[in-house]
Parts: sequence; C-alpha cells; structure tokens
Amino acid sequence: MKTTFIFIPSWTCQLRCSYCDYATKKRGDGRELTAFGKKIKIGPEIQWPVWLYLLNRFRPYHVDLTGGEPLRYDGLEDFMAHLPVWSTWGITSNTLGNVEGFKAVNNDGWTASYHYHSDKKFFENLRILDKGGFNVRVTLVLTPENTDKVSMAIEKINKLRAGVNIHPILKQGFDWGKHSQIWDEFKAMDDGKRILFISDIPTVFADLEWPRPQACHAGMDYFILFPDGIVYRCYTMILRGKPLGHIKEVVPYKEPQPCKIRCQFPCDLQVPKEPM
Ligand code: SF4
Ligand code: SF4
Repeated sequence: MKTTFIFIPSWTCQLRCSYCDYATKKRGDGRELTAFGKKIKIGPEIQWPVWLYLLNRFRPYHVDLTGGEPLRYDGLEDFMAHLPVWSTWGITSNTLGNVEGFKAVNNDGWTASYHYHSDKKFFENLRILDKGGFNVRVTLVLTPENTDKVSMAIEKINKLRAGVNIHPILKQGFDWGKHSQIWDEFKAMDDGKRILFISDIPTVFADLEWPRPQACHAGMDYFILFPDGIVYRCYTMILRGKPLGHIKEVVPYKEPQPCKIRCQFPCDLQVPKEPM
C-alpha cells in the first residue's frame, strides 16, 4: 500500500491572487498562515535531505506537491530526483519558477495553474515540460470577465500535448445561473479527455449518505504535510481539527477511522481493500 502525502514544502508564493484562500507572512524563522480567519504558526521549512530521511519509514509513498507555490522550495528538483524506488510524485504549481531541473521519472502528472500574470514564462515552461515528457494539465479559472483570456490560453495549449481543466469560479454569493450562456459555451468544449470542464463536486461525493457508511482513511495512508513536518489528517482538519503530530513521531491509524465532520472529500470512498 502506498501512503499519499499532500505535501506543502513551502507556504510562500510570489503571487497574490485575489481568490486565494491562504495567505502567509514571515514570523520568526517560520511563517504565520491565515486561512478563513484561523491563524496557524509554522516553523522553518525542513531541508530536502532531511525530508527523505523523515519519509523513509513510509516508503513506498506518493507525494502530491502543492502550496503555497512548491517551486519556491529550495532544492525541490533534487528532492524529487532522490525519491526512493516505487515512490511517485505529482505537483500542482503556478509553473512560473524554474522547471528545467526536473525529470519526469516517477512523476504521475504536472498540474499547471494558469494565472494570467506571466504568459511568456508560463508557456516557456510548458514547452520545457512537454519536451521533458511530463503529463501536463493546465487549470484555467473561468469567470464571466476572463472568457477571452481563457479561450486564447486554450488555443495556445492546444499546440502542445497538455490537457486543459476549465474550472468555472465557485464562490459564495456568485450565481452562474446569470451567465448560463458562457457556462454552456465552455461546458460544450469538454471532450472527456483533452479538455475537461470541472463544474462541481461530482454527484457521487455530494450525495454521500449521512451518517457516513464507511470510515475515512485519512490519517491511515493519506496525510497533509506542512513545511515544518507537522502532519494533519486531511485539509479540513487544518481548519477544523488538530494536527496528528510531527512526521518524526506520527503513528498512522491501523484502519479507517470514523469522523464526525460532514465533509465532502472523497477519501472515505477510496479505502483500499487489498494492499497494492
Ligand atoms: S498562485 Fe496559488 S497559492 Fe499563489 S496566490 Fe495564487 S492561488 Fe494562492
Ligand atoms: S471525513 Fe473528511 S474531515 Fe473527516 S478525516 Fe476524512 S477527509 Fe477529513
């Protein structure tokens, strides 16, 4: 069985997107994270050789890098190149940093979030990743105001091998019903493969039975990992729970655990039946 770490190697980011739910500022030798009114102190980032040592007892594992902006982490390309055999990695990144040192070995996908900030650098990087054999998907956030930009980006991406995920913006108080023509136009582009229109939480997850029919495997073979080694059971627990502890000492649950939080994460539907 492979343990999955949703891994935030760094909470820093060079952008300040208006819709970003997370903000951090320097505090002492670490940072302070503010998210949905909650403040969390984070210690200094752990260096990559130490991460390899700390993760060793979980091998084989999968690290799914996210942020902040993971390319801001010093030595990320070396870290990924030294993952142990059978371990894998994926990344979600604004893809504006330096991508030249990365090798596609053991990479199961590169999600490049397009932010309209630096078209030139972004597409230069996509070409490098394309050449390097990465399986790239570009996520584009669609709003009624940026339809031209999204269309132009899709045209450019179509010249590469990368796929496209169109995410219509979902935020409180905003109603796509008033912009149904735009919604329909972009939804019609979904070909089920190259271009996907990610409209909402799939019904299968939204309609989960309550109370939950199954316990959740977060904390057993699925964790959120902070830059200072602090481990959470899942994303929701960052805001609504407590950490499980430090990666040095965390003892994974032996079996899926019940959870009282009514979240719509799909992990309770993915309890592995057989060791992989
Ligand atoms: S690139 Fe991502 S992490 Fe950075 S500010 Fe934008 S949404 Fe937030
Ligand atoms: S049920 Fe949801 S909130 Fe509870 S541990 Fe699982 S993912 Fe986290």
